[in-house]
Amino acid sequence: MIELQDIQRVFRVGDELVHALRDVDLRFNAGEYVSLMGPSGSGKSTLLNVIGLLDRPTAGTYRLDGIDTTTLDDARQAAVRREKIGFVFQAFHLVPRLTAAENIELPMVLSGLEPAARKPRVADALERLGMTDRADHRPSQLSGGQRQRVAIARATVMRPGILLADEPTGNLDQASGRVVIETLEAMNVEGLTLIVVTHDPAIGERASRRLHMVDGLVESDTADGEPAP
Ligand code: ADP
Ligand code: MG
Repeated sequence: MIELQDIQRVFRVGDELVHALRDVDLRFNAGEYVSLMGPSGSGKSTLLNVIGLLDRPTAGTYRLDGIDTTTLDDARQAAVRREKIGFVFQAFHLVPRLTAAENIELPMVLSGLEPAARKPRVADALERLGMTDRADHRPSQLSGGQRQRVAIARATVMRPGILLADEPTGNLDQASGRVVIETLEAMNVEGLTLIVVTHDPAIGERASRRLHMVDGLVESDTADGEPAP
């Protein structure tokens, strides 16, 4: 479970302070499907980065499965991130000189899994994402939608409980974007907690819980079947 309490994130830019997150209080339960919407600059990526332990809040408490992450040093925080969280970005961030299979294998290499344990999981991930026949292609030899499917495979190969996606369809045409979002949704149905940042209302509406951010604040939080708080 994700519990954010009084989260603030302030960036200093020259002499100016930018309040990217002003006062965020949120809880997410395991298995939720949440979309995070709002105008450009409203703090969506900053919030996702805090949840994903890619960034630290300036103030506030963030508990993940009961662990107060704000008290962990960088190495411990990275270990928690590797174990619990997968991240997918708009720009894919695949390693260009590695093949699709090698990109998917990378998190397992970094975690010290033996090759014998890695190979079947790579094959399984490729199969699940319909990418088996592209295993040996480099990112430059794949379409955008295929690159994002490799990125999803890489993000989930360590079987995290939480997948965070920042504008995952932002660089894709509509048809490829749909395949990508349906792939993420299928993983959510199997129990993965899914939080998707998007400025596309058609995608945001698909989530069973929808958050709207404005100027560093969560302005609305609506879930299917219950009134907004
Ligand atoms: P969104 O994802 O909703 O477009 P962001 O979370 O990226 O918004 O940014 C929220 C605000 O914080 C913006 O004003 C942005 O300029 C600022 N910001 C984000 N990251 C940084 C950073 N690393 N340094 C300084 N300002 C930042
Ligand atoms: Mg953003």
